[in-house]
Amino acid sequence: MFCAACGTQLSDAAVVCPKCGVPTPKFKQALAASTDQPKAITNTISVGVLVASYVVGGLIPVIGWGMAIYLLVKGRVGHAIGVAAVSIVIALFWYIALNA
Ligand SMILES: [Zn+2]
Repeated sequence: MFCAACGTQLSDAAVVCPKCGVPTPKFKQALAASTDQPKAITNTISVGVLVASYVVGGLIPVIGWGMAIYLLVKGRVGHAIGVAAVSIVIALFWYIALNA
């Protein structure tokens, strides 16, 4: 191909003209490809966060209730109620955040 500005012959892979620095049509393609890539990575991350959120959101009440039962067995009723209440509140926040 040839540079649209100065007419210098360019390699088909050139993104800018080496003589005058004007971007070639390849430049737009390269730019589009470079801006598409972070989007794909962001999508992968958000799917990972979503899956992790569901796993953590499901685990917190289970761990919380396990701890509460353990504390109850140990005779620490006040702590058991506190841990159970906190785990319910955290779980509620998770489900509200995930369904929003
Ligand atoms: Zn040129």
